[in-house]
Amino acid sequence: MKTAFTTNGNSIEESIEPAFGRCRNFLIVDSDSGEVAVVPNPGADLAGGAGVKAAETLAGLGINTLVTGSLGHNAGPLLHAAGISVVTGRSGRISAHLTASHGELETPRPRADKAGTGSATPSGAARRRSPAGFCFCQNCGYRTDDDTGAPCFKLKCPACATPMERRYD
Ligand SMILES: [Zn+2]
Repeated sequence: MKTAFTTNGNSIEESIEPAFGRCRNFLIVDSDSGEVAVVPNPGADLAGGAGVKAAETLAGLGINTLVTGSLGHNAGPLLHAAGISVVTGRSGRISAHLTASHGELETPRPRADKAGTGSATPSGAARRRSPAGFCFCQNCGYRTDDDTGAPCFKLKCPACATPMERRYD
């Protein structure tokens, strides 16, 4: 998951810039890899259309969520069309929001799912299972029932970063 914060600085210790289109930079946190990237907002110096330019930039970066103060009229629909969730009304240090959201992230639980051990489990009883199956890592056996709405192959295993696949058994 990639989360973009609007800011005038270049680290997670900086504040969230309240105006989406006018921020100097986007600070992008990749919760899968833990990487933080700073991308300049090309809309910052535009006389008009700043929000549109900023929204196009985020769309091109594959951002999942935008955290900012407020959004212009034109940027909202563009972000929505790009599949970016928008969280507005935020301020203060970026790092505070990272800490707050960290509790929602599931701790990776690598689990070796060897053939044979599954049959010892009473079918369906001990496992939480969604009807649509689950995402499974072929490499290390990690599995998750979390339905983020994204195809499994777009997810990377939190334990070993291998692209996952959907399983139904
Ligand atoms: Zn794995």
